[in-house]
Amino acid sequence: MLADLGEDARPLAGGHSLIPMMKLRLAEPAHLIDLAGIGELKGIRADGGDVVIGAMTTQHEVIAEAALAAKLPLLRETALQIADPQVRYLGTLGGNVANGDPGNDMPAVMLCLGASYHIVGTKGERRVAARDFYQGVYQTALEPGEMVTAIRVPAPPAGHGAAYEKLKRKIGDYATAAAAVILTQSGGRVATCSIGLTNVGTTPLWAEDAARAVIGTALDPATVKKAVAHAEAITSPASDNRGPAEYRTKMAGVMLARALARAKSRAA
Ligand SMILES: Cc1cc2nc3c(=O)[nH]c(=O)nc-3n(C[C@H](O)[C@H](O)[C@H](O)COP(=O)(O)OP(=O)(O)OC[C@H]3O[C@@H](n4cnc5c(N)ncnc54)[C@H](O)[C@@H]3O)c2cc1C
Repeated sequence: MLADLGEDARPLAGGHSLIPMMKLRLAEPAHLIDLAGIGELKGIRADGGDVVIGAMTTQHEVIAEAALAAKLPLLRETALQIADPQVRYLGTLGGNVANGDPGNDMPAVMLCLGASYHIVGTKGERRVAARDFYQGVYQTALEPGEMVTAIRVPAPPAGHGAAYEKLKRKIGDYATAAAAVILTQSGGRVATCSIGLTNVGTTPLWAEDAARAVIGTALDPATVKKAVAHAEAITSPASDNRGPAEYRTKMAGVMLARALARAKSRAA
């Protein structure tokens, strides 16, 4: 149906981004294709070392699934910081990552975790790394007629530590700035690290240089400062009602420093 109806049609998942956009007349699709009846888009399963989460799995289900929380605590911690329970009962993981809004929390976490998206269209199925998916505000690698069917997350190594730190003006708000960190340690030093940033650019950001700066170190204050400087350098937030651009860049650095410290404290 998506392919037949073309650009006039939009998939409807939880509706908690799309319906507000329609109310504001920022989106005026002639056709909505309700994904709720497609059972295959639901559910969380293991596939080899990966966890595969159906696109229509709600944020509430991500929080409630104990096995997922044990394997990927970062997803639960992030989902708990999205909006409020009412939104999370309907809002889906697929809608959150496919929306293309840099304010959504899950995309930066998916960059951090090295996730990929299963995408289906009339030409078949393909898989796109989250790190290659986001192209601009509401611009993604999805071609007309394609949709995300599942999110594939490689299970992080045992003993990893992870954290999502989000600054928001009030409960239920989008991030002024947020940072996701996952790391492992060996002999008191950081062995691996990956970092994602939310809402401080036109896309979610994968802070490669910042992560590289902490690998091999004991995360001493000078190293954290270096990592924060690398992260701040790739941000380009808008000045808006969450604060001027300079403030939001600084807050991205503060969130990163906190996330690094918490991830370290959680790593075995
Ligand atoms: C008051 C409020 C506060 C919020 N706060 C936050 C917050 O702090 N953090 C946050 O991350 N989000 C927040 N949200 C957004 C919420 O998490 C949305 O539910 C989510 O972003 C989109 O998921 P959805 O299932 O509702 O998608 P929908 O609104 O149904 O769809 C969103 C977009 O993605 C497309 N789409 C949906 N599913 C697919 C798919 N499988 N494949 C391809 N395209 C698809 C739709 O066509 C649409 O363009 C908030 C929403 C509200 C109303």
